[in-house]
Amino acid sequence: MNIAILACKNIKDDCSIGCHHCLLAFDKREGDFVLYEGKDARIMAIFHCGGCPGSCVVARLMNLKAWMARTGENIDALHIGTCLLENCPYKDSIIEKVKANSGVEVVEGSHSYRPDKIFAC
Ligand code: SF4
Repeated sequence: MNIAILACKNIKDDCSIGCHHCLLAFDKREGDFVLYEGKDARIMAIFHCGGCPGSCVVARLMNLKAWMARTGENIDALHIGTCLLENCPYKDSIIEKVKANSGVEVVEGSHSYRPDKIFAC
């Protein structure tokens, strides 16, 4: 099963260095990736929304589909990254468009490693 994660362009690789939290959570089947416990699943793409206000997110889905088709791969499930979910003021519209256009299961969330008491730990 092939997984893609949709991230916030403002956060991916600038704040969330290397998308480490998503990759770790997936590897350990933690957070919203617990869905894949015991399953053969792979992260095939971590891609961003295209920038504020998320107007080209559907085009980004189409681009990813076309890019993956070159190697005969596709996506079976798409996760809305925690970065987008917790920070994006346009998330409702983005998620609505992704659900309406992706044609695969859309899971809202990825990792759950954000500390809620930064200076207390
Ligand atoms: S539209 Fe949302 S997810 Fe995309 S860059 Fe802007 S704040 Fe981030």
